[in-house]
Amino acid sequence: MKLLQDKVALITGASRGIGKAIALRFAAEGAHIAFTDLRDDENMQALVKELEGMGVKAKGYASDASNTANTEETVAAIAKDFGRIDILVNNAGITKDGLLLRMTEQQWDAVINVNLKSVFNFTKCVAPIMSSQRSGSIISLSSVVGVSGNAGQANYSASKAGIIGFTKSVAKEFGKRGIRANAIAPGFIITDMTAQLSEDVRKEWAAKIPLHRGGTPEDVANVCLFLASDLSSYVSGQVLHVCGGMNM
Ligand code: NAD
Repeated sequence: MKLLQDKVALITGASRGIGKAIALRFAAEGAHIAFTDLRDDENMQALVKELEGMGVKAKGYASDASNTANTEETVAAIAKDFGRIDILVNNAGITKDGLLLRMTEQQWDAVINVNLKSVFNFTKCVAPIMSSQRSGSIISLSSVVGVSGNAGQANYSASKAGIIGFTKSVAKEFGKRGIRANAIAPGFIITDMTAQLSEDVRKEWAAKIPLHRGGTPEDVANVCLFLASDLSSYVSGQVLHVCGGMNM
């Protein structure tokens, strides 16, 4: 029996990067996959095809996770198309880095809205569905910098720290309905997001990691699978660091 046989997973921002790796890992364990991203483009279509080729039901939804009305419509469509939602992965995220004194209001608002408000939007829409099922697993992508802070990332660090407080509150509010909520705090993971960093910054990060390498999207997806499945049935309100030992 596969770990997620016939479960329905909703993953935000999954056309590429960590979200895509999570979609593929979950599908390999038998989950049907509803995923969102900003645009219905070739990445979205290619992932739908790849997932369907693995023998599961899959559909991509163009949706801005920071937009509340858009999220309500998307979750309603997914509930109609898939009939239930067992797992929510709040993965969509962006960076707009800059030192605080140079950070604009636009940089602040964009990062808080996409990274943190999106988690409120999706969790609020999905929680009633999970409540009526009396079970569910909600996993949100935080970051090690949400725990430790990072110069040049006041907006991003604040959004990722906000996710941790939100996750713990949801775990307390919904535990009695059989819903677990946990966060993952990745360290330096090699994706398009970190490809924007200079070679010097990337070398500096790698030197601080006890395992001496950047993580892969699959490293994160494996931990996400643990939190999504019954292997973690007594784990809620936790922040799991996936960072090669960078943060202890
Ligand atoms: P990525 O940029 O490769 O992928 C992010 C995806 O989110 C993209 O497909 C993008 O189109 C989508 N997205 C952006 N804004 C959106 C919106 N408003 N609505 C819907 N989708 C939207 O990033 P990634 O590296 O795969 O990161 C995934 C998550 O993991 C993010 O929340 C990120 O903050 C977090 N994270 C990443 C790292 C890392 O080192 N890569 C470290 C810690 C945390």
